[in-house]
Amino acid sequence: MIHTTHLGFPRIGRRRELKRALETYWRDGERQPLLDTARTLRERHWRLAREAGLDTVPVNDFSLYDHVLDTAVLFDAVPDRYRPLLEADPLAGYFAMARGNAELPALEMTKWFDTNYHYLVPELHAGQRFHLAGDKPLAEWREARALGLDARPVLLGPVSFLKLGKTLDGTDPLALLDSLLPAYAVLLAQLAEAGVAWVQLDEPCLVLDLDDAARRAYAYAYEVLALGPSPKRLLATYFGALEDNLALAASLPVEGLHVDLARAPGQLDAVLDALPAERVLSAGVIDGRNVWLSDPARVRPLLERIAARRGTGALWLAPSCSLLHVPIDLEQEPDAGQGWRAWLAFARQKLDELRRYADALAGDNDARCALDAQAARLAARADAEGVQRTDVRARLAALSPQAVLRRSGHAHRRVIQAEALALPPLPTTTIGSFPQTAALRRARADHRAGRLDEAGYEAVLAEEIRLAIRRQEELDLDVLVHGEPERNDMVEYFGEQLDGFGFTRHGWVQSYGSRCVKPPVIWGDVARPQAMTVRWSAYAQSLTARPVKGMLTGPVTVLQWSFVRDDLPRETVCRQLALALREEVHDLERAGIRLIQIDEPALREGLPLRRADQAAYLDWAVACFRIAAGGVADATQIHTHMCYAEFNDIIEAVAALDADVISIESSRSRMELLEAFERFRYPGDIGPGVYDIHSPRVPAAGEVVALLRKALAVLDAGQLWVNPDCGLKTRRWEEVLPALAAMVAAARTLRAELAAA
Ligand code: GLN
Ligand code: ZN
Repeated sequence: MIHTTHLGFPRIGRRRELKRALETYWRDGERQPLLDTARTLRERHWRLAREAGLDTVPVNDFSLYDHVLDTAVLFDAVPDRYRPLLEADPLAGYFAMARGNAELPALEMTKWFDTNYHYLVPELHAGQRFHLAGDKPLAEWREARALGLDARPVLLGPVSFLKLGKTLDGTDPLALLDSLLPAYAVLLAQLAEAGVAWVQLDEPCLVLDLDDAARRAYAYAYEVLALGPSPKRLLATYFGALEDNLALAASLPVEGLHVDLARAPGQLDAVLDALPAERVLSAGVIDGRNVWLSDPARVRPLLERIAARRGTGALWLAPSCSLLHVPIDLEQEPDAGQGWRAWLAFARQKLDELRRYADALAGDNDARCALDAQAARLAARADAEGVQRTDVRARLAALSPQAVLRRSGHAHRRVIQAEALALPPLPTTTIGSFPQTAALRRARADHRAGRLDEAGYEAVLAEEIRLAIRRQEELDLDVLVHGEPERNDMVEYFGEQLDGFGFTRHGWVQSYGSRCVKPPVIWGDVARPQAMTVRWSAYAQSLTARPVKGMLTGPVTVLQWSFVRDDLPRETVCRQLALALREEVHDLERAGIRLIQIDEPALREGLPLRRADQAAYLDWAVACFRIAAGGVADATQIHTHMCYAEFNDIIEAVAALDADVISIESSRSRMELLEAFERFRYPGDIGPGVYDIHSPRVPAAGEVVALLRKALAVLDAGQLWVNPDCGLKTRRWEEVLPALAAMVAAARTLRAELAAA
C-alpha cells in the first residue's frame, strides 16, 4: 500500500473554535478552557485524517498562535524583555511575544513566504545561546499515540528557522547555526528515545535563491544532525521547485524528501534523477494552497511516472504543503456540490483525494472509477455557464496595446491637472475609509439579516457620507473621500458585484493568530454587469464643491486576496479584473469624479519567490494596473495607495504604474521608505503617510511637521502630499478628528514657510 500523509492541518477549527477560545483567554486570562479547546481540535483533526484513511499524521503542526514563534520558544530564542513574564507565566509570556501587552511591544510579524499567513520573526543576536526549553513536539506525539495514531512530529528545520529570523545587530543569523544545532540534536535524540519513527523537518527556504553560505549551512547542519540518534528524517520542501538547490537537497543525509509537485510539477523528472532509490519520495501532488479539486488528468500521469521509475515502495502521497492555507471542510457549506462549488476541495476533501489516488495507483477499482468521475466533472467545468465567456474574452482581445497608456506623459498631465484642480501646495487628503462606527456595523448586520430594508440601509449610508463630507470640510482637507461606509472589505465589496466570483460561508483561513480571512473565490470569467461605486462617489461629490476622490481596489490586490481559479493563468484573470475596473474608472469619470484612487496594497505580495521570475510578474501586474487606469482624460488624476510592505525594492515597478499620485505607508518606519526616492527620482506626486493609523495615538502637529520636513529633504515641495498611512476604518472618530486636524495644521505651517522662502 502506498503511504499517505499530510504535512500540517488548519488549526483554527471548522467553526473557528480556536479564535473564540483565544479571544476569551485574552479577555479573562483563564488558561484551562483554551488548553482544552486546543487539545480537542488537535484530536479532532487527527481523527479526521485517520477517517480519511491516511497512514500517518503530523503532530506539532498545531499552534496556539504561530509555529515559528513555537520554534523560537522551544529553543529558547526569547528576547530578554519577555523572559521574566515567560518564566512567571509561560502562556502570558508567549502571547506577549505574539501580540504585545501593556508594557511590551510584540515581535515583528511578516508574511510567510508568498502566502497570506503571517509569522512572528525570531529576534536573534550575535552570540546567542539556544537550548531545548520545552517538550511540545514530544507531548503532542504522546497525545496522538494515546489515541492509537501513528504520528510524525513536524519541526521547522534549523536553517529555515535562522533564515526567517532577524538579528538586531544586523549579523548573519546563519552564524548562529553552531549554537543552534546541539539543541536540535537533543530534541531529535529525545524523540528517538521515546520511540518516534519519523520526524518532519520543514525547510521551505530550499525553494528560494540561496547563496553559497546558505548552501554550506544546509550541508553542514544536516551532516551534524545525522551524527546523533534521531528518528528518520523527512526533509520537507514546498512553495516551489528546488531547481538549483535540488542536488543539494538530494545529497543531504536524510531518509526522505518531500517536494511540491502542485506548484512545480515540472521538477519531477529532475527529482527522480537526483533522489537515491532507497530514500522515501513524498510527492506533494495535491495543491495545499488553493481550494480546487485536483485534476486526475494532471495528477495521474505524475504518479504513473513515479511508479514506473522507482516503484511505489518508498512513495508517500501528500498535499504540496501544509493545509494551513485552505479552509477546513467543504461539507459545512450550504449548497456544497452545486454549481462552482462542485469543483472545490477544502482540507478534509483533499485528504480523501489523497487516499483515492493511492488506492487507484495500487489497483483499486472503486478508486479508479471515482477518479474518472472526478476528471469528468472537471472536464465539464470548462463548458459550465460563466466559466468561459466569449464576450469577456472578445473584449480583452480587442483591447489595443495603447490601452495601457495615458493620453499624454506625466509632465503634461501634471500641468493640466494643476490647472483643473487648483489645489494648494502640500495638498491634504485621506486614504479612503473613515471609522466604521458601531451604528454602521449594526446597520450592515441588520441589512444582511433582513431586519433593515434596502431603503433603510441606504439612508444610513447616505447619512454617514454626508457627515463625513461635512467633517472633512470643517477640517479643511483639500481632497475629500466619501468614507467607504458601504464596504466591509475592500475586496469582497467588489467581488460581490462582479460576475465570476463566489463566496463561502465558512471558508476561513488563518492570517495570523486569531485573525482569519474568508477570501472570495474567482471561479469564472470576470465581468462587471453594472457600475459598482459611482452612486456613492457621485453622491458625495454632489455635497461639496471640493474634489471627491473615487475609490477602487486594484486588479492585483483583488487577485491576490482571492482564491483564484486554477484553469487559467493568474495573469489572464488579472487582466479580466483590470478590464472590469477600467469600465468602472470610465463611469466614475463620466459622473464627474476628477480624482480616482486605485488601491494596490498587495502589489508586492504577488512577487514570485525566485528573482528570475519576478520581472515577468511585475510586467503583467503593472500592465493590469495601467489597463484599469489608462483610459482617462489627462485632467483626471489617478492615485494609488500601498501599505503593509516594503516597496523600496520594487520602486521602479511602482513608478511604472504611471499613477499621478501615490500614497505609501511610512510613518511607522519614520520615513525609511524615502531612501528609495533618494536613489530613484520618482516622477509623480507622493504622499508618504504621516499618521500611523495602526495606533490609537493622536500625533501632535509638530510631529507631523517633523516627518514632512524629512520628506522635503528628499522630495520636491511640488510633489509632496499630506495624508495618513492607510484607511481610517479601524479607528474611532474621536481619534481621527484631532489627528487629521494636526495633519492639516502641519501642512499649513509648512505652506507658510514655503511661501516665505
Ligand atoms: N481605501 C482603502 C481604505 O482606506 C485602502 C485600504 C488598504 O490599503 N488596505 O480603507
Ligand atoms: Zn493601506
